[in-house]
Amino acid sequence: MGYSVSIDRDACISSGNCVADSPDAFDFDDDDIAMVKDGVGQLLDDRLVRVARNCPAGAIILRDADGNEVDLFG
Ligand code: SF4
Repeated sequence: MGYSVSIDRDACISSGNCVADSPDAFDFDDDDIAMVKDGVGQLLDDRLVRVARNCPAGAIILRDADGNEVDLFG
């Protein structure tokens, strides 16, 4: 099972990196905060890690099948 993805809405600074990189997986909501779309399920875990690392605010949270947060830079 792939990683689950969530956005820390309080941390997101609306840079748009995730939306630009993977528009099928991320979009902006009505408050211009990133949101996860159903298409995120099509992204492989290593791609998700890359997108999350590229978030300048550390707002993209990945969790493994056990619900543990993935250490992006470990
Ligand atoms: S890359 Fe991070 S800060 Fe930028 S829009 Fe996405 S979640 Fe928000």
